[in-house]
Amino acid sequence: MENLAIETASKKYLVVFLENEFRKFITELSLKHPKSLITIITDENVFKFYEKELRFIDNQQFFLFTIKSGEKSKSIKSKLAIEKFLFSHKNNRQSVLVALGGGVVGDLVGYVAATFMRGIAYYMVPTSLLAMVDSSIGGKTGINNEFGKNLIGAFYQPEGVVIDFGFLKTLSNEHFKNGMAEVIKAGIIKNPQIFSLVEQNAPKLLERERREEQEGREDDLLKQIIVKSIEVKREVVSLDERENNYRRILNFGHTVGHALELDSDYEMLHGFAVSIGMVVEAFFSYKLNLLPAEDLRKITKVLQSMGLPYRLPKSVNAQKIYQIMLLDKKSLDRKVYCNLINQIGEVNANRGTFRRVIEPDFVHECFREMQKV
Ligand code: NAD
Ligand code: ZN
Repeated sequence: MENLAIETASKKYLVVFLENEFRKFITELSLKHPKSLITIITDENVFKFYEKELRFIDNQQFFLFTIKSGEKSKSIKSKLAIEKFLFSHKNNRQSVLVALGGGVVGDLVGYVAATFMRGIAYYMVPTSLLAMVDSSIGGKTGINNEFGKNLIGAFYQPEGVVIDFGFLKTLSNEHFKNGMAEVIKAGIIKNPQIFSLVEQNAPKLLERERREEQEGREDDLLKQIIVKSIEVKREVVSLDERENNYRRILNFGHTVGHALELDSDYEMLHGFAVSIGMVVEAFFSYKLNLLPAEDLRKITKVLQSMGLPYRLPKSVNAQKIYQIMLLDKKSLDRKVYCNLINQIGEVNANRGTFRRVIEPDFVHECFREMQKV
């Protein structure tokens, strides 16, 4: 598979596609940075699955640091622990970090790299589907705090992104579905072909364990979907690296999604929260006469067919969600904004702002209607 070049205002780098070639990547990394200390940072789950591959690296140039798995690790505490490790092992400005894991490891390690000695090189090696199609691309790094998600961070691009499809074999079904939510989002905002591929192949995509027996056909389909989703993200971030405007389209489903995630105290997975968030924001788009009812129905159906949640739980309180959305870093002048859509594959430009103010009464009305059924 051909490499993809990402060119943002601040940096140009490659997304490389591999299959069970992590060792090869490590060898190449060592050749490319012969004078650097290289620290691979991963989480406990990923370490457990790939301990053998990681243990072989007994080279003095390499170090390994493991964080606890889960969203709660995207914290200042983990950042301090990594920094302490790096300083105590005499790292310097030439040092290189490798983020081996899902979006949690990627966002955290990227942020450590952004500030360690005012910025050191790092590579993204995403191992979850969500990280492959979304979080490893585009240089948004950061951590959470008690006020919300991703409130502290930096735009900081990696030296390269390595997508090794082999990692997906050990990913749980829950996290596979979690990543599919972002794939579907990429289809909705920019590429209707991704959307139809998922629509037409949802059961096949979900039957992951039978993939290898079937001559790799579904495997190829998944790879194709991953590459296309990365292409969507690449186009968006190359036009607007720092989310001054157009990059906002990636937040479709996320204003409501983030609020649901926080409201659940991060019990709900990101992609699952975004799945409901997309249905709600598609409903907003429909109620504002931007999106045809048929497209709203298709969006709901495709999420359902991928085993993702598509109903707004009755227990969710509109006023509380509105208040959380007000605290979101995307809110401005005490107003809540959502990034809406005109149809599957097309966002609503709203005179080039790519967002709309959502009033509290409107949120209440939509929630009431959605929670009726
Ligand atoms: P995650 O990093 O917690 O990974 C999900 C789970 O899967 C973890 O338990 C992890 O240990 C496990 N895992 C990962 N790869 C595995 C593998 N190959 N085999 C077995 N288990 C594996 O979460 P995530 O869903 O990857 O990412 C979510 C995070 O990404 C959120 O914090 C979200 O805010 C962030 N995000 C960031 C961006 C961005 O642009 N920076 C975009 C989207 C999401
Ligand atoms: Zn997301």
